[in-house]
Amino acid sequence: MTTASTRPVPFPDDMTEGFWDSLRARTLSIQRCARCSRFNHAPSLTCPGCGSEDLRYEPVSGRGTVHSYTVLEDPPGPGFATLVPLVVVVVELVEQPRLLMVANLFGIDPAEVRIGAEVEVSFEKISEVCVLPQFRPAGA
Ligand SMILES: [Zn+2]
Repeated sequence: MTTASTRPVPFPDDMTEGFWDSLRARTLSIQRCARCSRFNHAPSLTCPGCGSEDLRYEPVSGRGTVHSYTVLEDPPGPGFATLVPLVVVVVELVEQPRLLMVANLFGIDPAEVRIGAEVEVSFEKISEVCVLPQFRPAGA
């Protein structure tokens, strides 16, 4: 999916550039601790499990379940007018309990979204340099 957009574009920094680089290659990678193997998202400078600074990005399956969601009926900012109603979803990735990621859920009627539903990552290119991780119903 490509959407020419006036939507805000994330600015990678040293801590997050591995996440964004991976997305440009259409792979979801999540920060993982080299010491205790815990996945960590959103990225941080140290592992919330053991405090190690040895964190790397590792590809994950992109599969998960709907942990929580809301439906925005009004555009949350510039560039979102054509996207409402917009499902904002918290996905629990299958790799680890409570490994949560906030994104949008596309490809489903907002009235049909259910907690626990299986979803899979999709990739939305919103600029020449930015690909966002989004989700859609699994197998859609
Ligand atoms: Zn750790």
